[in-house]
Formats: sequence, C-alpha cells, structure tokens
Amino acid sequence: VVRVAIQTHVAEITAGSDHRWQVRTATTAFAAGAGARWRFVHGGGRTIRILDTAGQLVAEVGGEIALHPMDRGATVWLGPRAYRGYFVMAARDGGLAVVNRLLLEDYVKGVIGNEIGRSGGDRFEALKAQAVAARSYAYLKLASRKTDPFDLHHSDRDQVYTGVSGESPAVAEAVDATAGEMVTQARTPVETLYSACCGGKTALPGEVWGAGGGRHLVSRHDRHRGRDHCAHSRHYRWRVSYETDTFMAVFATHYPRFHPTRGGSFGELRDVRIVDRGPSGRVTELEVRTTTGAFRLTNDTIRWVLRQPTGAKPGLFSTYFDVRLERRGGRVRRVHLEGRGYGHGVGMCQEGAVGMSKDGFGYHDILSHYYADTEVRRLY
Ligand SMILES: [Zn+2]
Repeated sequence: VVRVAIQTHVAEITAGSDHRWQVRTATTAFAAGAGARWRFVHGGGRTIRILDTAGQLVAEVGGEIALHPMDRGATVWLGPRAYRGYFVMAARDGGLAVVNRLLLEDYVKGVIGNEIGRSGGDRFEALKAQAVAARSYAYLKLASRKTDPFDLHHSDRDQVYTGVSGESPAVAEAVDATAGEMVTQARTPVETLYSACCGGKTALPGEVWGAGGGRHLVSRHDRHRGRDHCAHSRHYRWRVSYETDTFMAVFATHYPRFHPTRGGSFGELRDVRIVDRGPSGRVTELEVRTTTGAFRLTNDTIRWVLRQPTGAKPGLFSTYFDVRLERRGGRVRRVHLEGRGYGHGVGMCQEGAVGMSKDGFGYHDILSHYYADTEVRRLY
C-alpha cells in the first residue's frame, strides 16, 4: 500500500462516494449512504468537525479518521475527484492533511496517464515503459519515507497523480501488462527519474542538482538512424525572448528567492553570459552582469530564476540553451534564449519514449536505452 498526500493544510474538504461509505475513528464508525457528500472542517488544533450532506453536525472528533468505501472496488470522492483505496485525514495546527492509501498498482494507474498520455495504439510501449518507471520510482519512495506520514506527493514534486480521472483503458492495460515489474540493477530497483523532452541528449544528475544519481543515469544521445526520438515534440526546440525591462523584472523577482542575502537594486542589464556547460551541453553556470554587479546562477536554479515573460509557464523549459543578446547603442534591448527540450532532462525522455514506441521499439528497449545497464524484472 502506498500513501499519497492529496491535501495538506486545508481548512475544510468535502468527501463522499457514489456507494455506501464510512468514517472510522479509533473507537467508532459513522455510516454514510450512497451518494452522501460530507464536509470535514478543521476545528482548530487536533479537532475535525464532520458535517453531513444537510449540514448537520455528525461528530466532532480529535486526531485521525479514515474514510472507507463499503463496497469492493468503489471509489471515494475527495473534492472534485474520485480515488481508489481509502483516505486517512488528520487535523494538525496548520489545517487538515489528507492521505490516499491504495495499492501500488492502482496508484500507477492514476499516474501514467498524467505523465505520458492516456491513449494507446502505437504509443502503447511508451505507456508500459512509463508504468514500469513510475512503479519503480514509487517503490523506492516507500522505502525512503518510512517515518513520514506519507510516501509521495500528488504533484510533480514526485509524480502527478489524479486518482481515477488519470486512468483510461489503455493505461490500465499498460499497468496490468507490466504488473510488478521494475527497472533494476542487481535485482534492486533504481531511481527512475524522467522528464518531458531531452531535446536530443539526456542530462547527468550533477548538471541539474549539482550532485546525486546512480550509475544508470548517464548522458545519452536520444537518437536513432540520424533522427532524435523526441524530434516530434513541440519543445524539442524553443525560443524565449524578453524585453530587457521584463528580463530584469523577472530576474529581480526570483533571484533573491535563491540568494536571499542579496538585497537592493539590480540596476541596468549589461550582459548575460554562459560561464560553463555540463557534459550534455546544458548550462551549469550563467552570469547576469548589471550596473550593480555580476550575479551567478547555477544548474537547475537557472530555470526557476529566468522564468518566462508570459508568467503562464512555471519556469524556463530547460537549461539546454544558447543566449543571444540584441544590443542597440551599447544597451541590451532584448534577451533571446534559444533552447532544447523541456524538463530537467535526467533519465527517460518521455517524448523520446513515445517516439521509440512509434518506431516499433518495445518497452524493454525503451527503458534500457534511458537507464544504462539495467534490466526489467518482476519483483512481486
Ligand atoms: Zn529526447
């Protein structure tokens, strides 16, 4: 059973089921009918107030409660989404925390559609590769977070998990077809990192996080017969352009978040220079020179400081880019970043996995291409 954090620190939440369900405390149980939607309100401290569909107080309980469907295979709604398994809700000082407990296989079904798409056909081998990678990733987390109240975040901090809404027939088929299989080295699961699109070459963990990674995470050309596996991706090549004022506004907003000791004005932009690149070609050190000083950015932090001018996207697509400055009269007028890929670039390239699947490769080929010297093994 895996424990996925769905909510932390919320004041209240609505839950229910289309079937009969129950709220269980340490000492008693409250039965809710099919279709009932109850509200759970943080009553301060360790108190949870439970209100039924009509708004009547069912109980006020302390500590932890569990929400269980009573019929086999039934799902529980939490807010707008249905989930398999059951829920454990706990009141803390910061609000309510809700954890979904479910079978690892069901969890994988709720992940891979969000991560690589829900449709099968010629993408089916990529779905299977993603299922094995997602399962291996979760399995390692189970071992590492034993003392925490949950194993996994529901977001891209771990893997994007949306319960039943992430599923599809092709997703379920991919998970069932690979049940219990993981990416292993010497019969031990390895950390199966992956990202959306590598832009032609995968990254070493050190280029992104400064350190870390196992020997299966190598930098590799994502290429077959002169064509990159992810060349079809809309993020294979990209360009992000900033007016100089916008560039400095973005920089001034986000740079202090990573370098909090630095205060005051950043002045006028003079230069943006790539100081160093990693073995894959990704920028590992960037210098932004202004009238008030030279500011260094390293590794993946670059993506979270040089956010996109539109603000819609969370960060820069990747650190795999060139810088081009447009100058006029000695001043920088525009900053152009011309880049490749989307995401950190370590491990499996998801767009590349789709490309390989379409080119007729099997999921074993896909996984051994991105994770060096590994083999797929069924571990349970
Ligand atoms: Zn790729």
